[in-house]
Amino acid sequence: MDTAATAESHIPHEIPFYEPVGNECQLFERAYQQRLPLLLKGPTGCGKTRFVSHMAAKLGRPLFTVSCHDDLTAADLTGRYLLQGGETRWVDGPLTQAVREGGICYLDEVVEARKDVTVVLHPLTDDRRLLPLERTGELLEAPDDFMLVVSYNPGYQHILKSLKPSTRQRFVAKSFDFPPPELERNIVASESGLAAQQCAALVNLAARLREMKGQDLEEGVSTRLLIYCATLMADGMPATQAAQATLVEPLSDDADVQEGLMEAIRATF
Ligand code: ADP
Repeated sequence: MDTAATAESHIPHEIPFYEPVGNECQLFERAYQQRLPLLLKGPTGCGKTRFVSHMAAKLGRPLFTVSCHDDLTAADLTGRYLLQGGETRWVDGPLTQAVREGGICYLDEVVEARKDVTVVLHPLTDDRRLLPLERTGELLEAPDDFMLVVSYNPGYQHILKSLKPSTRQRFVAKSFDFPPPELERNIVASESGLAAQQCAALVNLAARLREMKGQDLEEGVSTRLLIYCATLMADGMPATQAAQATLVEPLSDDADVQEGLMEAIRATF
């Protein structure tokens, strides 16, 4: 399909593992039942995507995930006419598919998308719940089991790339952050298979590395990177080597900052 959006749509047999941190599961369910759209805010790699997959599976709805980027247009979401076997055919985009099938559409990093995307989202996010398809002349009414979920990372938003109040005030919203240490330990252990004691050491190390955010680092080390580190360690890689490849190199290109991170790592292992 010639669309820049990558969509995934299936109902998995097993519900993906998600460790709740607060009331987010109840909030999601209530929003879904009341047909309200949801906005998730938080740093990269803290569990937003996993949370949405978990909830979609729990609610038994197909999930259409779109990773937004700065070339993504409204047509990538709604659909377009494509030439197929000498014929021009309309092909639904992931948002239209979710509306037609009564699924959950998750727009990850929605602030990255082109401005015309908000024009499509506005009528869908008020009580009309409508998706107008100008090109086909259709006006789709979203069924009760359709839900729109969007996310963005307020940490690295530029002034030009924040959500306008007229858009954000259409969503029920929830902030996400890295899970508290006792939960993050369980998550890292369960995702990587690394022994509990080493996971605890890694999570303590993460707290120290996250303190360096702001001074020298744009973003603190994510739960995702901790899992990468733990996975390499569980596979037998020495801890400092694994940590350098997952907790230092992906975070900074600056030699002094890297050395600061390595010092904290050497003090742990
Ligand atoms: P985000 O969408 O916020 O960038 P992800 O949902 O992709 O982050 O999270 C990265 C990884 O961290 C996930 O693949 C998952 O392994 C793990 N993770 C983070 N938080 C949780 C959680 N609360 N429960 C289970 N896994 C989690």
